[in-house]
Amino acid sequence: MDIRPFSRSFTQQEPIPEDAIAAAVEVMRTGRLHRYNTAPDEVSQVSVLERETAAWQGSAYALACASGGAALRIGLRAAGIGAGDVVLTNAFTLAPVPGAIVAVGARPVLVEIDENLCLDLDDLQARIAAHRPAAVMASHMRGHLCDMDRLSDICAAESVPLIEDCAHTMGARWRGRRSGSFGLAGAFSTQTYKHLNSGEGGLLVSDDPAFMARAILLSGSYMLYARHGAAPGDAWFRDARLDMPNTSARMDNLRAALLRPQLARIEDAVRRWNERYQAVAAVLAECARIVLPHRPPEEEFVGSSIQFRLPGITPEEARTFVRDAAALGVELKWFGDREPVGFTSAHQSWRYVEPQALPRTDATLAGLFDVRLPLTFDLGDCDHIARIIVSCAGKPMPENRP
Ligand SMILES: *Cc1c(COP(=O)(O)O)cnc(C)c1O
Repeated sequence: MDIRPFSRSFTQQEPIPEDAIAAAVEVMRTGRLHRYNTAPDEVSQVSVLERETAAWQGSAYALACASGGAALRIGLRAAGIGAGDVVLTNAFTLAPVPGAIVAVGARPVLVEIDENLCLDLDDLQARIAAHRPAAVMASHMRGHLCDMDRLSDICAAESVPLIEDCAHTMGARWRGRRSGSFGLAGAFSTQTYKHLNSGEGGLLVSDDPAFMARAILLSGSYMLYARHGAAPGDAWFRDARLDMPNTSARMDNLRAALLRPQLARIEDAVRRWNERYQAVAAVLAECARIVLPHRPPEEEFVGSSIQFRLPGITPEEARTFVRDAAALGVELKWFGDREPVGFTSAHQSWRYVEPQALPRTDATLAGLFDVRLPLTFDLGDCDHIARIIVSCAGKPMPENRP
């Protein structure tokens, strides 16, 4: 089959909506970009964003931060995690996750993922028993939610605080409940490649007032915590205010102004991402070699990217497949590559984490591929991309070629 090349960019997001641009320009006109620089009786854009985030999430409290990684770091430290503690996390995640654990002086212990890219909960239980971790940081990498009921039951039964990394699940739900509300806290990223775009940024949500008071102080609140948008009452800060170091990781009003109109429209973005995901998935499902991850009915995901496996593919075949697809304009990531090219999710490349044997994860990643689905692609683009993938996956592999 002859197929025409695809020529659009896989990293081009939609423009910032005009009302968000207008709000950002308004902030610039005032000159009051810092979250605590407000006129009398003015509530800052950051505080309003925190209020709107908490209302949207259904959480008691929210804190806007400088990045998703900063939200994870603050979350760990506010949970009391520090030097010498063990934190369990997914063996398949992005570097900011083990990075946050290492940054608070703790030791990441990696947990296997299964063939559907979810945390292997039997392995989690075994590693809780073996390591007595101070926390579990569950990373919903590429938007795949494990059995969240079982995960929260395990953590509750073992009295281990659960912090969720929701960088790829902002807007996703498990049995109707929003990702980020299954444990002590949930952290989101508003970096350009995630579900809201402020260039950089992060959000931390929780229902625990003592935790959130510590988190706000850690973010660098200069004793102005009473001016936060979704914060616990003053009494919660009384002791912590002198105990918590300032780690200066606040969000500014410009970013908050960009984010508020996007948050108001996130359900529409989720719907459009899922249309694109379904368009690609339907074509990939026709190819006998390609295995799509199973997605349980409890999971309402956000299809901002799609993953698929070619089980049994050799490294040489995988490189050829990626090269063939690239020649037709389709940018695939292959997670089995030992050299982290354009990604930072290979656990072997985290030399700041003790090496661990993770055979199930490695076997899954050896045949795992990934494509971004930016909202600038229309459904025709998605069909086109999927047909290129199928045509490259269906080609005879090198050793069979004449
Ligand atoms: C992007 C990302 C983060 C945090 O990202 P920042 O760049 O620090 O905002 C955390 N976890 C995962 C899985 C991510 O992809």
